[in-house]
Amino acid sequence: MNGSVLEVDLGKLSFNAAQVVERCHAHGIEVLGVTKGFSADPRIVAALLAGGVDGLADSRLENIIELRECGFDQPITLLRIPRLSDVAEVVRYVDTSVNSEFTVIQALAQAARESGRVHNIILMVDVGDLREGVMAENVIGAVKKISLLKGIKLQGLGTNMGCFGGVLPSTENLGILVSLKNALASWGIKLDIISGGGTSSLLLLEKGEIPAGINQLRVGEGILLGTDTTNNRKIPGLYDDAFTLYVEAIEVKAKPSVPIGDIGRDAFGNTPEFVDKGIRQRAILALGKQDVYIEGLTPVDAGMQILGASSDHLIMDITDASRAIKVGDEVAFRINYAGLLSACGSKYISKRYKNGGR
Ligand SMILES: *Cc1c(COP(=O)(O)O)cnc(C)c1O
Repeated sequence: MNGSVLEVDLGKLSFNAAQVVERCHAHGIEVLGVTKGFSADPRIVAALLAGGVDGLADSRLENIIELRECGFDQPITLLRIPRLSDVAEVVRYVDTSVNSEFTVIQALAQAARESGRVHNIILMVDVGDLREGVMAENVIGAVKKISLLKGIKLQGLGTNMGCFGGVLPSTENLGILVSLKNALASWGIKLDIISGGGTSSLLLLEKGEIPAGINQLRVGEGILLGTDTTNNRKIPGLYDDAFTLYVEAIEVKAKPSVPIGDIGRDAFGNTPEFVDKGIRQRAILALGKQDVYIEGLTPVDAGMQILGASSDHLIMDITDASRAIKVGDEVAFRINYAGLLSACGSKYISKRYKNGGR
């Protein structure tokens, strides 16, 4: 093996995408496959499309431009409210962007007019998570101003939850979007899309509690990892093992579990604490904080434990591992969403692909 490798099971990802699509379509909801979690790797994007997602979405304009250059011509939504300095590229490469600032929307409208296009926007509404969005009481006013702009089509309203504030989607908070849509209809403004969040909204769908009128979800984590961190659960019927990180052991030795000598600060300024478990079998793996977000990793072998990491070394207790590990062996890890984001952006981790699953 050469360096650390993230193995991606494209078959399992297609299966997960197809499952999420089937569940959402049954409620009249379209699914945007969110590609930021894996830096929009074209092979993974193709797997999501094979699973039937209705469109793509990414928070990074850079990723979207790469997708266009690879020839993906599906509708793509930009999920991070655009920088004022990016409006010309946004209009050029993106079908729809989410927005919350009138100044930016005006600039998008102007850029669209100058290039002879019409740019679609989703107006983000903050229903309580306190990340992006117009507060609900200001939406009607904002929409009236937006609807006067030429070059812009207001496709609908959207919201984001479970991110900054950890607020859970509910019938009530998603219902705010639907009430706003209805109120706007009485002003003669018809909206096509009501975008009700991401993975964390799937639980409401499964419980049959998602308000009628929500007709789009933007799903990343659920499809990729089969998990829903905000609701602290595994999603039934989805694979949670489509990604596996393999890392090579570079030292294996029996060592005491408590360091010898006076303890100062570790390499990152923290004062470490240790429990004395006697002599333990330990492995050092060639992976560190420079490579990946270590807290996002879990050993596949439940008998192994991550003790800590410095920039370049991952220290593991392998005393209770289910097989003996020797220098040169690969150790496998599951990865969470934060870990996946960092692994896919890391120049020290390469990918390999397989095609498993049902
Ligand atoms: C990242 C993101 C998503 C996808 O969230 P998941 O929890 O991965 O499903 C949806 N919408 C916005 C605005 C995002 O930034």
